[in-house]
Amino acid sequence: MTDCIFCKIIQGEIPSYKVYEDEKVLAFLDISQVTKGHTLVVPKKHVENIFEYDEALAADVFSKIPAISRAIRAHHPAVKGMNILNNNGSLAYQSVFHSHVHLIPRYEDESIDGFGLKWETHNEHYQPEDYQTIVETIKEKMEG
Ligand code: 5GP
Ligand code: ZN
Repeated sequence: MTDCIFCKIIQGEIPSYKVYEDEKVLAFLDISQVTKGHTLVVPKKHVENIFEYDEALAADVFSKIPAISRAIRAHHPAVKGMNILNNNGSLAYQSVFHSHVHLIPRYEDESIDGFGLKWETHNEHYQPEDYQTIVETIKEKMEG
């Protein structure tokens, strides 16, 4: 879809910090970093929300989430939990209308993630090299 920011990321027209990629799925760091390592998992096919998935697409996307979650957990010893969130429709706080699943690691010591889980934009605290360090550390922990 021409006007979709996530389609542009998938096509490489907008840069992103890629955690995982295969033929059907892309995972990349959320620019906002609600907590450090906050990642979005998206189907490469443009679908607006969960109501547009068929079973095959759901299998493609959701079957990748456990391994990506484990890599995010493994990237920092203080990550002890994970919130997985998927907003569908503006009423449900969806703001980018290309379906995506948020993986939000939770740190046992919130002074490490720095912010706690507040739905705020923290990108002003992150420089390109910070995103790069986070994404490299997560990628090192991907299985296989
Ligand atoms: P939603 O509110 O739709 O569930 O979440 C959309 C998410 O997309 C937000 O957390 C926002 O920070 C993220 N986002 C918006 N634009 C960009 C972008 O250009 N690059 C990246 N990496 N994330 C984005
Ligand atoms: Zn799209």
